[in-house]
Amino acid sequence: MSEPLTASPDLVAPAVSELDTIVSLSKRRGFIFPSSEIYGGINAVWDYGPLGVELKNNVKRAWWRAMVQERDDIVGLDAGILMHPQVWVTSGHVGSFSDPLVECATCHRRYRLDELPGAEDLSATDLRDPGVVARLGLVCPNDAGPLSAPRQFNLMFQTYMGPVQEEASIVYFRPETAQGSYVNFKNVQQSSRKKIPFGIAQIGKSFRNEISPGNFVFRMREFEQMEMQYFVRPDEAAAAAFEDWLPRRRAWYEAYGVEPTRLRLREHAPDELAHYAKKAIDVEYRFPFGWKELEGVHNRGNFDLSRHAEASGENLEYFDPTTEEKFIPWIVETAAGADRAAFTFLIDSYREEEVKGETRVSLALHPELAPYKVAVLPLLKKRPEIVELCHRIKADLKRDIMAVYDDTAAIGKLYRRQDEIGTPWCVTVDVDTLEDGAVTIRDRDTMTQERVSMDQVKAVILGRLAAARP
Ligand code: ATP
Repeated sequence: MSEPLTASPDLVAPAVSELDTIVSLSKRRGFIFPSSEIYGGINAVWDYGPLGVELKNNVKRAWWRAMVQERDDIVGLDAGILMHPQVWVTSGHVGSFSDPLVECATCHRRYRLDELPGAEDLSATDLRDPGVVARLGLVCPNDAGPLSAPRQFNLMFQTYMGPVQEEASIVYFRPETAQGSYVNFKNVQQSSRKKIPFGIAQIGKSFRNEISPGNFVFRMREFEQMEMQYFVRPDEAAAAAFEDWLPRRRAWYEAYGVEPTRLRLREHAPDELAHYAKKAIDVEYRFPFGWKELEGVHNRGNFDLSRHAEASGENLEYFDPTTEEKFIPWIVETAAGADRAAFTFLIDSYREEEVKGETRVSLALHPELAPYKVAVLPLLKKRPEIVELCHRIKADLKRDIMAVYDDTAAIGKLYRRQDEIGTPWCVTVDVDTLEDGAVTIRDRDTMTQERVSMDQVKAVILGRLAAARP
């Protein structure tokens, strides 16, 4: 493999020690709100506010650029959330997409077994062992009551399609986007005339009735995935594609600013591998609550297409015109979460520093990810000519990028506000501008200021954005 799996970097400190710092900044500045808050909220669903939706859209755009736009061998797809229910029987989700659940006999709280204190490092074999709770003496973290033996809890949400609520009309909310790519393999391959190896990329909502959601948007019941299925020749070609994709996917996070020492790779143990997987390695991030999965890269063998071919009766073989062979393609999957990625970029970019006796908070977000690229600010809002100039500059910038005007505080405070939401540049119009036609561009990270002619401002900002692009 091209890079070694990291041994034991437990000593690496998280970028932010308290998750609350990010939760409260997100609420205060409009990144992320609890869903249905006026009704007391609903567990495990979060709403993205005005800045959050920009950040998440930018994350998805950056992924799409790297995975579709810049590649000749990958095409996009947007499959439905609801699919034929047989898809989920064939894929194995109806039978085994489950987590081990234990219940307290006294308070009736339910827990995912591997998230109980003392059970975090259990092997997959242990997690399936009915005697594991007694053997380890695990008790309820809430009231120390006795816990049941683990039982498998299926994570799929289901509903009824059509006006009749009966067994025959059950459909599932997809728990992953991948199956949409598998069942469309033939449609996509034939319409796009792609030759193997090629990939299908999708971004979209997925739903899982997680037993223990939590840690803010890390584990939700409704979330968004960014998944790519790469179809390859069997065996060695799949192993080679896996080795190629793994470092690429890790590098994507680094290219958008994540501190490399807070990323590591973790290989799934043989007894931990999902039923379909031949090999799986997670890209993990050092969250404030520990090392956790950010993205999974999986060699799925020919499991998916051969199962769907068998169950649907459709021939899903690929004919290779160069070797004149027919085969069921193998699949290497890169499975990331848009929410988890956005959350990671938020945490990792958080900075606090002392400036002139005050704490300056900033988000050193990569300019492409920042919700606003530029804020246009007046030094004197009492001068109508200055305000008018600001609006003109902002309107021109807005045609190409997210730009905002603010005059509701003194300039120092306006800068701090933009720092805290990650705006990389501020353009300030002052009295001198009226004389010399120049404005100040202030940089978020260095706080340095530069005088630039007003008619050059847009070109300078767009040039900096382009230069920052990975
Ligand atoms: P975990 O072990 O954390 O439950 P998983 O191994 O089941 O995750 P995958 O099925 O590989 O995850 O899903 C791919 C990606 O989708 C994950 O790496 C993560 O970024 C995202 N994801 C999965 N479940 C959730 C969730 N409940 N909330 C937010 N994102 C999720």
